[in-house]
Amino acid sequence: MPVAMTPLASGERKQGTVCIFGTGDFGRSLGLRLLQAGYEVVFGSRDPKNSPLVPKGSKVMIHTEAAQTAQVIFIAVQRDHYEFLTSLTPALEGKVLVDISNNLKRGQFPQSNAEYLSSLVPGASVVKGFNTVSAWALQSGALDASRQVLLCGDDPQAKQAVVDIAHSLGLTTQDRGSLRAAGEVEDIPLQLFPNWRLPLWIATGLVAFFFFYLLIRDVIYAYVEKKQDISYRITVTLANKVFPIVALVMLSLCYLPGALAAILQLHWGTKYRRFPDWLDRWMLCRKQLGLLALFFAVLHVLYTFVTAIRYNVMHTRDTEVIAQITENKAVPFDSAEAWASDAFLSLGVLGLVTFLLLGLTSLPSVSGTLNWREFRFIQSKLGYLTLTICTAHCLLYGWDKFLKPSTYKWFTPPGFMLCLVVPCVVLVLKLALSVPCVDNRIIRIRNGWERPTKRRSGGKVVTMEKGTTL
Ligand code: NAP
Repeated sequence: MPVAMTPLASGERKQGTVCIFGTGDFGRSLGLRLLQAGYEVVFGSRDPKNSPLVPKGSKVMIHTEAAQTAQVIFIAVQRDHYEFLTSLTPALEGKVLVDISNNLKRGQFPQSNAEYLSSLVPGASVVKGFNTVSAWALQSGALDASRQVLLCGDDPQAKQAVVDIAHSLGLTTQDRGSLRAAGEVEDIPLQLFPNWRLPLWIATGLVAFFFFYLLIRDVIYAYVEKKQDISYRITVTLANKVFPIVALVMLSLCYLPGALAAILQLHWGTKYRRFPDWLDRWMLCRKQLGLLALFFAVLHVLYTFVTAIRYNVMHTRDTEVIAQITENKAVPFDSAEAWASDAFLSLGVLGLVTFLLLGLTSLPSVSGTLNWREFRFIQSKLGYLTLTICTAHCLLYGWDKFLKPSTYKWFTPPGFMLCLVVPCVVLVLKLALSVPCVDNRIIRIRNGWERPTKRRSGGKVVTMEKGTTL
């Protein structure tokens, strides 16, 4: 079916005419943008005389008349009211109907809105699209978050006509296939941070686990064993133990799936095999895991800054100083302690800076300026450097505590020791995978090489290259 914009008599506007059914929020915003882009806009309304809010320069007519003016008609009406279109089928014959509708929840109707529209007006070509762009974004021009128009439809020419309109409004388009994909496209605006769900669950689980673990080891232990009430430490001391632990574990969880994937590829001897679903999902949310890890690292830094002005810290320090003065005794300077403390702080600062760099380069505006190799270099090399520095920072924190029996309250290891398990595993795996013979094999596999398979033939084991048959 040829799709052509109706040319305009007025000659001023270079684009054709676009019709919009419905003078509601979306219809008016779209109409305004179309007018700004040089289109003639005609609204189809139930009550043309009573539509004062339509943008200046547009026309309003009853639906049948409006349909005659344009080849492409946007249906800016809620799906619940689509029935009125059945009476317009003769006028809509051969037209391109753009279904922009959204639902309130997933699976609200058995059929997608666009397929439903197509069944009501079988003589028209229905294209699903523009539902991911909000009326507000269209009107205000702040389209960064929803600049992309996802389209699907069965008629390529009809789709092209809608693509042309989207492009002239400064939007990008993505073809999502036939109209059968409309349900998926309609579900997209209903998603709430889909890639953040798993990382948020992991973060919540880790925070909850370490909070209660440390609560038992620090506060409850002191109360039960020493009859001391140190519950005031929950808000800052305990929090400032939980945050760095969660940050380090989550940072290492960004790199663990990559190492596991490399091990699987080595084991399979091919990259042409699907990873298990859980690993796929894990790899897809690495950026969110990293950003959440950064969030906890920043919290740790801020909580550390306020340590010096805390009442109990100042009180303990003053008491110690007064005791030294009254007893006329000075604590001797411990050079090893000074070294460890300075190295610990220095690694903390370096870790934070590299971590911030990692976070910055994951922002689309920054990563967009990098080529693929630069991006991978930063995310992988700088990422592992950050993990190494932060792990060393944590190791130095416990440098003199590992061998002290008093560290193991109720025979449990302290939190910082527990949180070292995952990062150390990741770093050891990375080291093992970096051994030249292993690394070369991984590179070959990732470049398409496959290990020859062994099959039995007449009692003999035959080695076969891929593609050969017995
Ligand atoms: P709206 O403000 O409620 O406007 C809908 C328009 O439909 C009304 O102004 C009315 O125009 C017409 N209408 C109402 N009842 C009707 C009926 N019984 N028969 C025929 N026409 C009727 O809704 P909206 O926010 O513009 O949304 C329109 C569509 O765009 C919806 O399907 C929505 O899911 C979709 N959408 C909206 C946004 C958004 O940001 N608002 C974003 C993406 C997609 P007349 O009085 O001129 O007939």
